[in-house]
Amino acid sequence: MTALPPGSTIGILGGGQLGRMLAMAAARLGLKCHIYSDTSGPAFDVAAASTVGAYDDLDAVRRFAASVDVVTYEFENVPCETARAAGEIKPVRPGVKALEVAQDRLVEKQFISALGIPVAPFAAVDCETSLDTAASTLGLPAILKTRRLGYDGKGQVRLSGATDLTTARAAIGAAPAILEGMVAFKIEVSVLVVRGLDGETRVYDVPHNTHAHGILDTSTVPAPIPAEARTRAEKIAGEIAAALDYVGVLAVEMFYCGEAAAELLIVNEIAPRVHNSGHWTIDACAVSQFENHIRAVAGWPLGATARHSDAVMQNLIGDDVNAWTALAAEASAGLHLYGKNDPRPGRKMGHITRISPKTGD
Ligand code: AMP
Repeated sequence: MTALPPGSTIGILGGGQLGRMLAMAAARLGLKCHIYSDTSGPAFDVAAASTVGAYDDLDAVRRFAASVDVVTYEFENVPCETARAAGEIKPVRPGVKALEVAQDRLVEKQFISALGIPVAPFAAVDCETSLDTAASTLGLPAILKTRRLGYDGKGQVRLSGATDLTTARAAIGAAPAILEGMVAFKIEVSVLVVRGLDGETRVYDVPHNTHAHGILDTSTVPAPIPAEARTRAEKIAGEIAAALDYVGVLAVEMFYCGEAAAELLIVNEIAPRVHNSGHWTIDACAVSQFENHIRAVAGWPLGATARHSDAVMQNLIGDDVNAWTALAAEASAGLHLYGKNDPRPGRKMGHITRISPKTGD
């Protein structure tokens, strides 16, 4: 295993806040970043180099790859042909396989359940007739989701007995979809797992995630789940990372269903990248998810994932960011602003992580 020496350049496809925090973590290790994105974004302010180019301009993507030492990505909808083109020139970590699986909810569910890991009951929906069939097989309530390009609760519609199926189908458009049975979960959790080039795997403590208006609101560690569930969650995430031959940080979102349920944990979805529910690791761990992603893709030894503090990460969405002076004055908090100008409703402008002395094991 050859580690890229300090001074090497990591190419990042995508220029948002995740790319920004990756570039800041890379700088701490003496590594440079070159961002490639179709629009200028928060990562451009902190990177050694940046290129604005279309993701389907494969010649530009190859030139970008030629200018860096390794390529990674910070969003899961990087077109697979873009990652393949970059991969002709330099290693792409995590690989294209992780993108193929994470970009399509049907492929993702099939992949995870083939590993013997529980997912919500699901059925493919291609036309109105198959929605009828799926709804009678799975029963209602259920959730209809587009297979591709859904995020933060977009491209979804909930079906109850009273829902007209034609209207529901129309609500998400003609795109291929899946119907998922409703999971009666207690809380939502996630696992941030990092897998190195040599296959070594480390996990962060499991956060409890809450959402507001379909967007992550808070991530709290430790999560109020028993040790057995934590261990199981970590094992599941490690198995998925290994099956993808993954390099870097992988987020696995799960439903914790409680001790009495048939399944303790059910995987909802994976994100082949650093993840919003791992932002607390910057302030509550010696080595953050961002630094560990950089270490992994650069072939470095992984860093300590242990939590030294309890933490509550709160996203600053839209106007929330206007309270920045009060937030900056808080005694035990790390404030992170993404340098975006326009605080539109629903836009992630920053986050704050409030830390307190560590409890639990
Ligand atoms: P997703 O885009 O798949 O992350 O879904 C957005 C949110 O909808 C999740 O964070 C859950 O709160 C909820 N949700 C998604 N799928 C299910 C399901 N099968 N059963 C119950 N709740 C779900």
